[in-house]
Amino acid sequence: MQRIGVLTSGGDSSGMNAAIRAVVRKAIYHGLEVIGIRRGYTGFVEADMDPMNLGSVADIVHRGGTILRTARSEVFSTPEGRKKAYDNVKRFGLQGLVVIGGDGSFRGALAFHKEYGLPVMGVPGTIDNDINGTDYSIGFDTAVNTVVDAVNKIRDTATSHERTFIIEVMGRESGNIALHAGLASGAETIMIPEVPLGIDDICEKLNRGHRRGKLHSIIIVAEGAASGIEIGRLIKEKTGFDTKVTILGHIQRGGTPTAFDRILASSLGAKAVELLMKGEKNKMVGMVSGKVVSKDLQEAISSSKNIAMDMYDLAGILSI
Ligand code: ADP
Repeated sequence: MQRIGVLTSGGDSSGMNAAIRAVVRKAIYHGLEVIGIRRGYTGFVEADMDPMNLGSVADIVHRGGTILRTARSEVFSTPEGRKKAYDNVKRFGLQGLVVIGGDGSFRGALAFHKEYGLPVMGVPGTIDNDINGTDYSIGFDTAVNTVVDAVNKIRDTATSHERTFIIEVMGRESGNIALHAGLASGAETIMIPEVPLGIDDICEKLNRGHRRGKLHSIIIVAEGAASGIEIGRLIKEKTGFDTKVTILGHIQRGGTPTAFDRILASSLGAKAVELLMKGEKNKMVGMVSGKVVSKDLQEAISSSKNIAMDMYDLAGILSI
């Protein structure tokens, strides 16, 4: 193997840059050449790609976002689009491809491999942490820490004004950010798409807390579980408590990656190159129980990851 490509695709996440750096430097260390493909599969189809060197990835290990930029590409979902991408594989002499992204990006990589045989390696990068076969995906830890930081600030006001604060966080289909940030910030209630929770149960818990003298309450809602604004309105209607809603939105995606995300990204990016060099293909690298592992890409995308119910139950016990 002499030359590989690397791209970031789908939603960006903090630590993707550290993963790009690891891919490029590990490959160059072993004498490979690396072609950086811009704007995900869009650049793959449009030949928006250039060789990268050691300097191309200097000074990015601590930066959020992705220097290669990212995109969602309609055209790559079509056989014609993928044919154009294959023409570029030949033109640039690529013998392997590292795709840093979420399960959608992995589906694209696998479809491409099935048609054209190019070995592909998936590196999980998504704040949702919803990918099977890895305990953590790149960007999740940074997103959770951003939420916890925000809740710390909101908590000061919540205590001072004796209010109920509802904080809506990202996670359309996955409650992972809400669950982890909720446990870490001592939220009274955590609403996630995986566990339906009735408004009466939420109000009952708030009333109980109020009776035992709680000054404030924090409720964390994953966007896929309910609308924070709607929950705030219902609580006010049913309990009379003053409610304030904060929707954290896109601040959860960016920002400087945590040390954990940088280490994860560096380890997984390097492993992806190592596996390609060994002649492996269609794998996803991941971290399980603190160890870097690889799984079949097909297995990683075939079902979604289960939420840690023991963690959910613990959060309920500790916030009683
Ligand atoms: P994420 O990787 O964050 O889950 P998306 O689901 O938006 O992001 O997927 C990123 C891109 O991957 C899509 O815009 C598309 O170009 C490509 N893709 C997704 N699914 C397929 C598929 N079944 N076949 C080909 N390409 C796909």
